[in-house]
Amino acid sequence: MPLFPQRESYDVVIVGSGAGGGMAAKVLTESGAKVLVLEAGVPWNNYTDSAMLEWPYDSPRRGASTHQRQFGEFDAGIGGFSLDGEPYTHASGEDFLWFRTRMVGGRTNHWGRISLRFGPYDFQHKNIDGFGDNWPITYDDVKPYYDKVDRLIGLFGSEENLPNEPNGIFLPPPKPRCYELLIKQAADRLNITCIPSRLSIITRNFNGRPACHYCAQCNRGCKTNSNFTSTNVLLPLADRTGNLTLKTGCMVREVTIDKQGRATGVSYVDKETGRDEHVKGSIVMLAASSCESARILLNSKSAMFPDGLANSSGVVGKYLTDTTGTDVMGFIPKLMDGIPHNEDGVGGMHLYMPWWLDNKKLDFPRGYHIEIWGGRGLPSYGAMNGLQRFPDGGGYGTKMKADARRYYGSTVGFSGRGEMIPNENSYCEIDPHTVDQWGIPVLRFHWKWSDHELNQVKHMQETFRSIIHEMGGTPFGDMPSKEDGYGISAGGQIIHELGTTRMGDDPKTSVLNSYNQAHDVKNLFVVDGGPFVSQADKNPTWTILALSMRASEYAIQQRKQGAL
Ligand SMILES: Cc1cc2nc3c(=O)[nH]c(=O)nc-3n(C[C@H](O)[C@H](O)[C@H](O)COP(=O)(O)OP(=O)(O)OC[C@H]3O[C@@H](n4cnc5c(N)ncnc54)[C@H](O)[C@@H]3O)c2cc1C
Ligand code: SF4
Repeated sequence: MPLFPQRESYDVVIVGSGAGGGMAAKVLTESGAKVLVLEAGVPWNNYTDSAMLEWPYDSPRRGASTHQRQFGEFDAGIGGFSLDGEPYTHASGEDFLWFRTRMVGGRTNHWGRISLRFGPYDFQHKNIDGFGDNWPITYDDVKPYYDKVDRLIGLFGSEENLPNEPNGIFLPPPKPRCYELLIKQAADRLNITCIPSRLSIITRNFNGRPACHYCAQCNRGCKTNSNFTSTNVLLPLADRTGNLTLKTGCMVREVTIDKQGRATGVSYVDKETGRDEHVKGSIVMLAASSCESARILLNSKSAMFPDGLANSSGVVGKYLTDTTGTDVMGFIPKLMDGIPHNEDGVGGMHLYMPWWLDNKKLDFPRGYHIEIWGGRGLPSYGAMNGLQRFPDGGGYGTKMKADARRYYGSTVGFSGRGEMIPNENSYCEIDPHTVDQWGIPVLRFHWKWSDHELNQVKHMQETFRSIIHEMGGTPFGDMPSKEDGYGISAGGQIIHELGTTRMGDDPKTSVLNSYNQAHDVKNLFVVDGGPFVSQADKNPTWTILALSMRASEYAIQQRKQGAL
């Protein structure tokens, strides 16, 4: 009796329905392939499940987070940095936070929608400063796919013609709000580039979806489908072909192979019955998020692949990176006692600051961008706590209420998001001593920031404080010390983990070729953040989408040519 009885067969089995999986499903089903998407999480649909139109006081906890909703009870994200029954570990004394969502659409249900293209330098940065590695592809290879993603999904922005911040095919950006105008004035005086942000929110009716109505509740899921989620934008396009089967509650354990070492499908745990199942696929595409796809490969051991599937290089799990991050918030007296007015907008910033300096003149090699926040959004649990930080603020009763009104909307904040260079101390591997609730071995993380990142974050802190001072304000809290890492986030905390199955031309130093296809197993692809060779100072999802589209089109072409 075989361990995993063969039940069904598909042209392509995709693991995970987030950014990478949703795009692959869309492209492959439209080509006529019969596609199965296996998703570990629960069903979700923004039209029916979103709390976009609820008042915070409709929540028993006024919107505060719960263990299942770690960004707030009305947030559209089911999951968080810890999941019941699904542990991960880290090496002694080291820290790494792993954010996982367990729902259809993955983390695209509650991401920030910041949709930046990588620039020409980002693909070949080693040529500029000698650090890390170059990608086996250039911006010109990916540009046609960025263009197609823009035309398919839609985003707003402005054409700025900046050297390493390529223009996209943009819808008009929303106007800056009052506090954003003040930030821009200060940034201009300090010669910091400050431009309209680039978010995948449609500001005009687009491809049958209505324009955003500026309710600022994107994180709860958009009931009008005016922002990007894999859930409501990509998967419905795949579904309407009639070629998609989506199964939820399926936790994939490993990729199975035949005697020739070709992938035959995947085995998974049906979370409802607890039974092990197997499904056959002519092609397997992993899109379970970069660390989870590495985990599946490392757990797919056999006599032919004793160190895990597609891992003859020993590189699976290595080159793990996350975006660097630190935040500073400040009080701006000019903004207090403001006239109450509607400061809603899109669910996110209307302006941002791309990297504007030359690293050759600095003590760190790679840049960062600045995300800004502030204003008078819909208050939720915890709004205006810490009133004692404002001049003469706090106390009790009537004074406390008056102070809350007085100071509401008088703060601004800055979050730096920078490029980390992969290092040999940061990686994930299988923990030989720990399994999850289904007996699947879990990941153990190793993590260390280098001086490149620490010096970069120091620069962020100094810059954010100088902008706040330029606005006539006062930062909350002192500049963190070197011993405190200048306030650098923990590894994984910015939720841009990448690089665990990196692409390259040399099978000895990379897992995948330049089309996301495993060097060792031709009918196996990885289409999440794992294939990234470097982080860039940009958020990664627009590039995940473009590369997943490119890999899927390549797989179709290879199939037509009989090579797959
Ligand atoms: C709060 C937040 C804000 C963010 N903001 C931004 C932003 O502004 N811009 C940006 O570019 N990026 C942002 N990100 C990151 C972005 O969400 C991810 O880069 C992107 O979703 C990754 O896509 P993915 O396909 O690799 O994985 P995911 O979207 O995480 O999808 C993976 C899917 O696989 C499923 N899965 C996992 N393991 C298994 C298994 N073993 N078997 C079956 N299914 C499995 C999961 O349940 C999940 O649905 C943000 C993320 C968060 C959480
Ligand atoms: S701000 Fe716009 S995109 Fe976001 S939830 Fe509201 S309508 Fe939808």
